[in-house]
Amino acid sequence: MTVWSTLTDACGSAEHVPGLLDRFEADPSGVWSELMDHLCPQLDIAFPASYAALPRLAEIASARSPEDLTWVLLAAGAIAACSPGLSEPDSPLTVYSAPLGVLHRLTDRHLSRAVEAEEYVNLLQTLLSFEGVEIWDRCLDGLPTGEYEVVCPYCGVNIFVVIGPDDYFCCSDDYALREVERSPLQPVRTQDLDGLPRRLFVRAMADGQGSLAHGIPYLFGRAACPNCGTDLSVAERVVAGWTP
Ligand SMILES: [Zn+2]
Repeated sequence: MTVWSTLTDACGSAEHVPGLLDRFEADPSGVWSELMDHLCPQLDIAFPASYAALPRLAEIASARSPEDLTWVLLAAGAIAACSPGLSEPDSPLTVYSAPLGVLHRLTDRHLSRAVEAEEYVNLLQTLLSFEGVEIWDRCLDGLPTGEYEVVCPYCGVNIFVVIGPDDYFCCSDDYALREVERSPLQPVRTQDLDGLPRRLFVRAMADGQGSLAHGIPYLFGRAACPNCGTDLSVAERVVAGWTP
């Protein structure tokens, strides 16, 4: 039994969290921001009460219709994404493995129904958060927007990496504002994708997200710095630029 008054959220005592969760259950899209302000502000920090809310969020998700299930899964996913990793002692991912298993199953099923690329990627990242996959549960969102910004490890310039849908290149200046020198990207051949990139590619293709899937070999491929010519791995630079 959770003693909410002994836990904290972003605003202090978590006494009010059960009531907030009741209101969230009644109106997920309407109460989502308020819930996140308490349990996962800016979607980048979670509190003891946030993790303690996971069993209730799993219950709420289990009873939801597909229309507003996304809100519930994204709320729980944002909290899971903030958790210390599975290798940490007493990680909330281990402590709450049962509700996270339920949330994972529901996300897995719901993902195939998502039509919009942005919602699809948010749910895909949520699925990875429930598995404890780090960094890529937050860094796939450049795929639907078609842009990543990374830093060259050699000369330090900012590089815009443009990943589709019509053009694939990188450049060191804002290509939206002026003509800039474009340097081509080298995608991994799809048959050479392995591990997580392969899984993401196969899944997105199976779910009818061909345009997103097509970007994955570029995200995990190589680029040459348009300023100094250094050959670099796009994904490695995305990881290097990621700050928790
Ligand atoms: Zn460079």
